[in-house]
Amino acid sequence: MEIKKGIGVSPGVVICRAFVLDTEEFPIPERHVDAAAAKGELERLRQAVVDSKRDVVLLRDRMADQIGDETAAIFDFHLRMLDDKVMLRRVRDVVRDQGVTAEHAVATVFRDYAKEYLNMPQFWAERVKDVHDIQKRLLRNLIGQSRATLDHLDRDVALLAHDLTPSQTASLDRSHVLGLATDAGGRTSHTAIVAHALGIPAVVGLKDVTLSVQPGQTVIIDGNRGVVVIDPDEATIAEHRHYVRRLAEMERQLVALRDLPAVTRDGHEITLMGNIEFPQEAATVLEKGGAGIGLYRTEYLYLGSESEPTEQQHYDAYCQAIALAAGRPVVIRTLDLGADKYTQDRALVPERNPMLGLRSIRYCLRNIPLFKTQIRAVLRAALTGPVSLLFPLITNLMELRQAKMIVRDVIEDLEEEGVEFMADVPIGMMVEVPSAALMCDAFAREVDFFSIGTNDLVQYTLAVDRGNERVASLYTAAHPAVLRLIKDVVRAGQRHDVSVSLCGEIASDPEFTLLLLGLGLRVFSIAPPAIPEIKRIIRSVTLEQAMLIARKAMTFDSDKQVTSYLRDQTRRLVPDAF
Ligand code: PEP
Ligand code: MG
Repeated sequence: MEIKKGIGVSPGVVICRAFVLDTEEFPIPERHVDAAAAKGELERLRQAVVDSKRDVVLLRDRMADQIGDETAAIFDFHLRMLDDKVMLRRVRDVVRDQGVTAEHAVATVFRDYAKEYLNMPQFWAERVKDVHDIQKRLLRNLIGQSRATLDHLDRDVALLAHDLTPSQTASLDRSHVLGLATDAGGRTSHTAIVAHALGIPAVVGLKDVTLSVQPGQTVIIDGNRGVVVIDPDEATIAEHRHYVRRLAEMERQLVALRDLPAVTRDGHEITLMGNIEFPQEAATVLEKGGAGIGLYRTEYLYLGSESEPTEQQHYDAYCQAIALAAGRPVVIRTLDLGADKYTQDRALVPERNPMLGLRSIRYCLRNIPLFKTQIRAVLRAALTGPVSLLFPLITNLMELRQAKMIVRDVIEDLEEEGVEFMADVPIGMMVEVPSAALMCDAFAREVDFFSIGTNDLVQYTLAVDRGNERVASLYTAAHPAVLRLIKDVVRAGQRHDVSVSLCGEIASDPEFTLLLLGLGLRVFSIAPPAIPEIKRIIRSVTLEQAMLIARKAMTFDSDKQVTSYLRDQTRRLVPDAF
């Protein structure tokens, strides 16, 4: 049994067999073979080694021609390893002794090798990349080119991967993936957000969990405590089963809140909406007791498909979400592509710093036809229900004005074509970069609403990559600088009579609810599974209590003080909150 600590990003606990994806997205098979078949496996292994050596020689020669012998010498290490008798014997022994496929044996032996290298002095530790490379080459030659398709699994699994691309997360077979654990990722990385939205227990930022787990092994993924237990013993399984039953009981109690309003004990009504990535999720938001869709992240339309969606596909998706929201408001955010989503894979020259690059509204303003296609669909779909339009990552007034001009152009086009649409759609902007927060008075004169995106606001204020596990401990919305920006935006909204909502992940975190209420926020959009819990906290406190807590929290000058104060106060007022 081994226990790994990461970052719990989606609550819930699951006990399940592991399905492991290697770093190149190959699934590592766990198929067992009998003694007769083992001979065939050894022959497949021999052939894969021959093929791999041939590949490496070709690569080495090409590099030598293009760059020179020195760089090409790196491949000599690969060749030596592929010829290493000890390594080959270890793989063959695993096939024979454990009765498993050659792929499984390669994965097992190379996992051990990688660990051994990582424990060596630096020069050798750096060679771990080469070890991974050789493993991948061998697996590629064994498995062929078949990549993991996560949309067609035939049994329930806990998915373990180095990281998941947005398109992989978008195409997950939700009926069979019961839990998720990744080496990489931070609290608001896309894997974390999608797992939370789908209600799949998840732990990210585990660094090397894929090196420690054998495919098919039992694992416990505890998204509440941010822990993964590999190969748990009977006592640990029993303890977790008990915990799962307790969580289910708490969940049942929360369901009772579904039809009750999100109103504080002193009678202040709060609007609690849900964030969605896929139109079908609009139904989940209502089931959980949400008052509408406060953030529809439409880029997942792109991430789940091979080709660019047509206007009709946009339109159908929006109409579906609007219909499922059954008359409640739906805030459709225009494409937030770029950074780690979509555009890098397709770019001829990937950006050096994509988080600061051509992403989001910037990307749309450089790709006007793509932008107009989406806006046409939104305005047409707005005839079927109450829709607002939200622009992401606005950093200056020019961008906002340009985006609004495109909306006007689209309106003119639709009028000229005689297509039916709704012109009177409220327009808002995300406040998710410091420049927008600092200039919110100027922006407030030109928008109908603000939506504060703390996931990015934290990243850009603190200069901490939201998806990088190595700096995850520095990523916190409790930093006083972030809190001041949030407070300023809320105040500007009040001054200009512009509604302000908050749709970053902290709105789903019970620890922040009192502070956010106390700072003056009255509209939240959160991951659907978190709606009942946040509603319970809202219904357990008075606004006066929340305001006192916020006032005190704003006097601290370190995030640690803020966090521990908020935790204590939340426990004091809502003892069974977490
Ligand atoms: C945010 O940045 O807080 C946000 C809600 O948007 P996303 O997580 O999609 O970047
Ligand atoms: Mg954002």
